[in-house]
Amino acid sequence: MILNDERKKIKSLIEYAKRLGEKDLTPGTSGNISLRYKNNIMISGSGTALGYLNKDDVVIMDFDGNVIKGKKKPSSEKHLHAKIYEMRSDINAIIHCHAPYVSAFAVAHKPLSRPIISENVFYFGEIPLAEYAMPSSEKLVENTAKFFTNNDAVLMANHGIIVGGKDIADAYYKMETAETYAKIYLNSLLLGEPVDLSQEHINEIYELRKIMGKA
Ligand code: 13P
Ligand code: ZN
Repeated sequence: MILNDERKKIKSLIEYAKRLGEKDLTPGTSGNISLRYKNNIMISGSGTALGYLNKDDVVIMDFDGNVIKGKKKPSSEKHLHAKIYEMRSDINAIIHCHAPYVSAFAVAHKPLSRPIISENVFYFGEIPLAEYAMPSSEKLVENTAKFFTNNDAVLMANHGIIVGGKDIADAYYKMETAETYAKIYLNSLLLGEPVDLSQEHINEIYELRKIMGKA
C-alpha cells in the first residue's frame, strides 16, 4: 500500500528528477537522486533515466542498501548516498549527476575553488575534487564522502558531481547553481583571465555565511 506521505515524497523526487532532465543536467541514464525518508532512504532505481523517472523507478531501501519497497534495484551509488546521510543529519536530499560543465571540470581535475562569483562563495565556499575511483565502488564512497564534513557539493574526478541539500528543492537549486558556476567560469576563461574577488569582499561574504548559519 502506498501511504499519503510516501506518495508525496515520490512525487517530489520525480518532479525534481524531471527538472534535472529538462535542464540537461542528467543525460541518459546517468546520475541518481534520493531523499531521507523516515529511517530509510528513497532513491532512484539503478539504470533509470532521471529525466523520465516514474513511480515504479523509485525504491525505498535501508541504510545498508537492502530494498524495503519497490520493484527495481536501488541505484548503484546507494552506499555513497547512505554514507552522506549518516555523516550529515542536516542533509535530507542528494543528487548525483554527470552535468556537462561541472563534469568537464571533474575530467580536467580542476576543483571549482576560485572565488569569482559572490553567490558561489556564499553557497559553496568552494567545490572540491574527490579522487577518482570506480563508479559504485567502496573506494568511491571513501574518496568522496569525506569532503561532506565541510562541503555540500563535491566534484568526482573523471565522473561528475554530488550535491546534498536540506530538502530536495535545496539540493536541486545547488545543482543548478554549481552547473552555472562551471559554465560562467569556463566562458570567462575564453574572455581572458577571470578576476577573483578581493580578500576583503570574500571576508564580507563569509561573515554573511556565518550570520545565515552556513559556516
Ligand atoms: P545508477 O543508474 O545505478 O544510479 O548509476 C548511475 C551513475 O551515475 C553511477 O555513477
Ligand atoms: Zn555517476
